[in-house]
Amino acid sequence: SDFDLEYPLSPAHMNWASHYPGFVDPDTSKLTVGGSRRILKDVEVVDIGCGFGGLLIGLAPVLPDTLMLGMEIRLQVTEYLQARISALRAQQDRLRKDPSSSEPIPEPQPTDTETSDLPEDAPAFPDASSKDAALIPGGYQNISALRANTMKFLPRFFARHQLSKIFICFPDPHFKVRKHKARIVSSALNAEYAYFLKPGGFLYTITDVEQYHRWILDHFGVQQKDDAAAATEKEHTAGVGLSEDNSKPGDDDVDSESDGESGEARVKELFERVSDEELVKDPCVKVMREETEEGKKVKRNNGPKFVAVFRRLPDPEWS
Ligand code: SAM
Repeated sequence: SDFDLEYPLSPAHMNWASHYPGFVDPDTSKLTVGGSRRILKDVEVVDIGCGFGGLLIGLAPVLPDTLMLGMEIRLQVTEYLQARISALRAQQDRLRKDPSSSEPIPEPQPTDTETSDLPEDAPAFPDASSKDAALIPGGYQNISALRANTMKFLPRFFARHQLSKIFICFPDPHFKVRKHKARIVSSALNAEYAYFLKPGGFLYTITDVEQYHRWILDHFGVQQKDDAAAATEKEHTAGVGLSEDNSKPGDDDVDSESDGESGEARVKELFERVSDEELVKDPCVKVMREETEEGKKVKRNNGPKFVAVFRRLPDPEWS
């Protein structure tokens, strides 16, 4: 339960130094409110429900100077990802010191008895054998993961306008049976995402459930009135390779029931959908489609992938 989860009192209390040792401020006199060493820059990219971390590992060399964090609610999965990142960093260190090193990466050491009880879909570890491993920009020092319920207490971790990118990849696998309030995309949570994103920042989404894609579009103010509109949407994205959809247009319409949250319309005003032309130039979209564990699974099963990315607009002057 959430009672087991630890959250900092505020972003200023958070010990980021333990997550990003390569970015610790050398000035030992500078400490956080919580008494830990400071880091040289803020976390700017967050992967909500990161799972086994394929997105972060794929993005690490694409944005080597940007600190990125995966947040995951399952204990074993989070510990697995933390061990995976440590092993990749260790491998990079070894390669830097001795490029001809063929020493294998050690298996992660369980820090908890439950770690040995990993879900069946855990990717093989290590995923980059020493033989094929190459030095990458940043050496994986810029990625980390922690256990958290992202539906609660995000303001304990991040300040207003701190983030430049939020990723939500293949969330809520049991979309249809989930209650609205338990969804990672909802009016209330979108308001939070808008708060953390800096103007000009991006919120990336990908799902294999068409109905969920349309729910997302609806909640970010993109008009999706009927199946004809959805079909046009698919044709639109297929042309630039953003949709791999090979399914028939779904019978399910977007659930029009409101979340019952106030300010829904105002949240929508804070985002605009990014055009497909812009998305094909964004390397993060390619990583999101190809490197997430769930994306790979969908590809193996020949399933559809629906992408939608939203730009955070400047704060309007609400009267
Ligand atoms: N994003 C990964 C990918 O694309 O491979 C994992 C997708 S998986 C279908 C959804 C993940 O979200 C699961 O690992 C689940 O544990 C996590 N999750 C669900 N609700 C969450 C929450 N409230 N806070 C953090 N993680 C959550």
